[in-house]
Amino acid sequence: MASTTEILGNFIDGERVACQGETEPIVNPATGEELARAPKSSAEDVDRAVQAARGAFEGWSSTTPAQRAHALLALADLIEEHGAEIARLEALNAGKPIEAVTNDEIPVMADNLRFFAGAARCLEGRAAGEYMEGYTSFTRREAVGVIGQITPWNYPLMMAIWKVAPALAGGNTVVLKPAETTPITTIRLAELASEVLPKGVLNVVTGPGLPTGQALISHPDVDMVSLTGSVDTGRHVARTAADTLKRVHLELGGKAPVVVFDDVSLQSALETIAGTGYYNAGQDCTAATRVLAGANVYDDVVSGLAEQAKGLVIGDTLAPGTTLGPVNSARQRERVAGFLARRPEHAEIVTGGGEPDRPGFYLEPTVVAGLRQDDEMIQREIFGPVITVQRFSDEEQAISWANATRYGLASSVWTRDVGRALRVSRALRFGCVWINDHIPLVSEMPHGGFKESGYGKDLSVYSLEDYTVVKHVMASLQ
Ligand code: NAD
Repeated sequence: MASTTEILGNFIDGERVACQGETEPIVNPATGEELARAPKSSAEDVDRAVQAARGAFEGWSSTTPAQRAHALLALADLIEEHGAEIARLEALNAGKPIEAVTNDEIPVMADNLRFFAGAARCLEGRAAGEYMEGYTSFTRREAVGVIGQITPWNYPLMMAIWKVAPALAGGNTVVLKPAETTPITTIRLAELASEVLPKGVLNVVTGPGLPTGQALISHPDVDMVSLTGSVDTGRHVARTAADTLKRVHLELGGKAPVVVFDDVSLQSALETIAGTGYYNAGQDCTAATRVLAGANVYDDVVSGLAEQAKGLVIGDTLAPGTTLGPVNSARQRERVAGFLARRPEHAEIVTGGGEPDRPGFYLEPTVVAGLRQDDEMIQREIFGPVITVQRFSDEEQAISWANATRYGLASSVWTRDVGRALRVSRALRFGCVWINDHIPLVSEMPHGGFKESGYGKDLSVYSLEDYTVVKHVMASLQ
């Protein structure tokens, strides 16, 4: 019987390119079934995309901020108009409950594009004046050039938009490589964007780290690389980029501590912590999955989180009411299960720990108590529906444990004591600290890490600045 599998294509220079070479299967994580196949792009494919972006750079970087803003606003409208279709594709390919994509992600994507449309028109050099007698100086912010962008599989389209929007707003052109398991909505983004952007401004090449990502980060005609991914890949990207001194922008892993003091309003805190710890099946670099609880609330936190976990609805990602979908791949499920299998004797699985009896890559929502600070499950990112709980004795120990991993992306502190909330938020070495909440993000505020969670910011004008370079122009008045 002839195969009806759809073969996806790259999107280069304003058009879809029929795949000539090798392809890889794209799987629905909720069923394990093949959805389509995507090109395993070669170095030659990447080169074509980079040349297209290079060719488009002069024109796009010469547009006015208003012209770029109009294009981004039109793209935001297109995302909303196609919201139902995009949500369905993302649910099928990434294994997300469709309601979460529709209600949470589509509005954030549109808002993000609209924010950068506005920010493009407000970007300014900071100085203009006479700093030496007989000379006038001013600063310009200019586009960096061709940006190679690489995204992960946990929020495929949202991460693509977080990267593409500031890059395009700043006048850069882009070659974007989505994660190999989740390219479908990124290809759709490129198609939609071709309605509002000149040819070559946004190009998408699909494929794995090797050879596709590697070809992009080592390409001599790429001026900057931007990765959202794991710490190990970040290290490799930075090392490779060093050969041609490309600029580097890295949003890497996280291991967010959730510091719960004894005076907290427990019920609402637990609802939020479980809601954001199990959101996206825990595959979120800011997920509230490393809970540190004060001695007096520890037992209630453990039992309360277990209750919350039991209340989640495991189901098909297209079914209404599903609150917990699968993890993204068989490999990811194996990875998460490996942490549980290797747990030390003193660890206690309070609830979950198994694989539901259904097809796809599901895992039960899990709570693990009794862990110690140097245990693997505390030190390494699990990236699955597993919340750990540790008991701390005082504020000093809470801060010390919260900070004692290699990551520094996001954190939260829960207390009614204003002084303590401010003290702890100052002491936490993370790019973001929430007080009495966890996970809300806004387009206006920066998102990015300290320590091995990387450098460079997503969202906010800081991100737009990261995608521009400052030039000093000094004019003799003679
Ligand atoms: P990963 O590092 O394995 O892959 C990320 C991307 O890098 C993929 O597109 C992959 O193909 C590409 N890649 C891998 N090796 C490469 C190479 N040698 N050269 C070029 N590209 C290469 O990470 P993942 O497992 O796909 O994603 C999960 C990770 O991303 C987690 O650690 C998570 O915390 C992190 N993440 C961070 C943020 C953030 O904002 N900080 C957001 C989402 C995910």
